[in-house]
Amino acid sequence: MKVVGKNIEGICSRCGSRLVLVIEKTLGDGARKINYIYRCTGCGAKRSAGSIKISKVNGTVKVTVYRASENKN
Ligand SMILES: [Zn+2]
Repeated sequence: MKVVGKNIEGICSRCGSRLVLVIEKTLGDGARKINYIYRCTGCGAKRSAGSIKISKVNGTVKVTVYRASENKN
């Protein structure tokens, strides 16, 4: 995982620590997924900020965007 910059993206609702934006890349069956996650610097809680999936369907690149509201954990 890679922490992007030192921007304060919010405050954790559990412990009140800062949230940082983290970008996580995963490789699956022919698809690539990029997850944007808010991670708490205090308790380590994670909250999805959305994700992007890039896959190849019938020789065409398909990009699917998942917004945070559709991707709750
Ligand atoms: Zn926290």
